Amino acid sequence: MIPFNYLRADDVAGAVAAVADHPDAVFLAGGTNLVDRMKLGVAAPSLVVDISHLPLDQIVELSDGTVRIGATVRNSDLAAHLLIRERYPVLAQALLSGASGQLRNVATTAGNLLQRTRCVYFQDISMPCNKRDPDSGCSAREGYTRYHAILGGSAGCVAVHPSDMAVAMSVLDASVLVMGRTGERTIRLVELHRLPGDTPDQDTVLGHGELITAVDLPPFPFSHQSAYRKVRDRASYAFALVSVAAALHLGDGSGAPGSPTIRDVRIAFGGVAHKPWRATAAENFLRGTAATVANFREAADVELAQAVTLNDNAFKITMVRNTVASLLAGLTRSQVGDIGGDLAGQEQKP
Ligand SMILES: Cc1cc2nc3c(=O)[nH]c(=O)nc-3n(C[C@H](O)[C@H](O)[C@H](O)COP(=O)(O)OP(=O)(O)OC[C@H]3O[C@@H](n4cnc5c(N)ncnc54)[C@H](O)[C@@H]3O)c2cc1C
Ligand code: SF4
Repeated sequence: MIPFNYLRADDVAGAVAAVADHPDAVFLAGGTNLVDRMKLGVAAPSLVVDISHLPLDQIVELSDGTVRIGATVRNSDLAAHLLIRERYPVLAQALLSGASGQLRNVATTAGNLLQRTRCVYFQDISMPCNKRDPDSGCSAREGYTRYHAILGGSAGCVAVHPSDMAVAMSVLDASVLVMGRTGERTIRLVELHRLPGDTPDQDTVLGHGELITAVDLPPFPFSHQSAYRKVRDRASYAFALVSVAAALHLGDGSGAPGSPTIRDVRIAFGGVAHKPWRATAAENFLRGTAATVANFREAADVELAQAVTLNDNAFKITMVRNTVASLLAGLTRSQVGDIGGDLAGQEQKP
C-alpha cells in the first residue's frame, strides 16, 4: 500500500473542507471497500479523512413520516431497525443479502452507496480499464462478462454497480442529502449514480469534496408490501448476478377471476447496469393490469427490450424476467392469499 496521510474529522464542515482542499483526498467510512482498493493499488489517495466518528449515525423519523438515515449508520443496524423491518422490508432484505455479518457490522450507509464496481479488470491494475485509467480501454468488452451490464452500458464500460441496498432505496424513491463547500443539496437516489457514457471513471454526480450526510426514505402507502430477491452464484457472500426490488399495491377490484388488479407498483433491477435500474417501463405496463405471472413476465420483457447482452451474460435476460415474475407473484400471494389461477405454483419455475 502506498503511504498516505490520515485525518480524523471532528465535524461535517471540517471533513468537507479537508477533502475539498486536496484533489486526491478521500473520505473513509467503514473502509471495507476503500481500503481493499488501496491495497490493490486501484486507489492511491494522499490523504484519507476519517468520517466514522461524525454524529451521522442515527435513524430518525421526521414529522412528515420520512425516515432519515445518517450516512454512517452501519448496514447491520439499519437492517435490524424496527422502522425499516416493518415499513421497508425490501431494504432490510437487500441489506441482509449483502456481504457477511462481519462486513455489515462495519459498512456504512453512504459507503455502501459509493462502493465501486467489482469488475475484475477494474480491480486488476495490470489490465486496461477506462474506469480506473481513462482512455486506456475496456478489458471486459472482449473478456469475461458474466457479471456485466445488459442495460445502459457504453462502448467504454459495461461494469455494474454492486450495491444491493441502492437497488432497494431506488424503489423507495430515496433522496440523498449532500454537504459541499457551497452548502447542502438533495439528490434523488435514482439520479445519484450515472450511466458510463464516455466518462466511466465518474460513478456518480457528486463533486469532489461533497459528503453524503443522510438518506431520506419518504413514506408511501404500500412500502410495507415490498421485497427483494437476489440471484447469485452461491447462497451467501456473493454479489448479485441479478436482483429485483419491488413494492406492489393491489386494487380492491378484480382483473381476471382469481387475479386482482395492480393499482400501483415499483420495480428496480440490480446487477444489470452501472446504476440501480428503476424499471419504469415495466411499472407503466403493469399499472391497471391483472396480477398474473404472464403480465409480470411481459412487463419484464418490456423493460428488457432495450437490453444488449455480451458474450457471457445473455442468461441475465431470462433470469431478470423470472425473478420479476417470482417476486411479484410472491407479493401478490402475500396480499390476497392462495388465490390459484395462473399464479398457483408458478412463481418458482425457472
Ligand atoms: C467480501 C465482500 C463481499 C461483499 N458483498 C457485498 C454484497 O453482496 N452486496 C453489497 O451491496 N455489498 C457487498 N460488499 C460491499 C460492502 O457492502 C461495501 O464495501 C460497504 O458497504 C462499503 O461501506 P464502507 O462504509 O465500508 O465504505 P468505505 O470503504 O469507507 O467507502 C466506500 C467509498 O465511499 C466513499 N464514502 C464513504 N462515506 C462517504 C460519505 N458519507 N460521503 C461521501 N463519500 C463517502 C469513500 O470515499 C469510498 O470511496 C462486499 C464487500 C466485501 C469486502
Ligand atoms: S467494464 Fe468498465 S470497469 Fe470493467 S474493464 Fe471495462 S471500463 Fe473497466
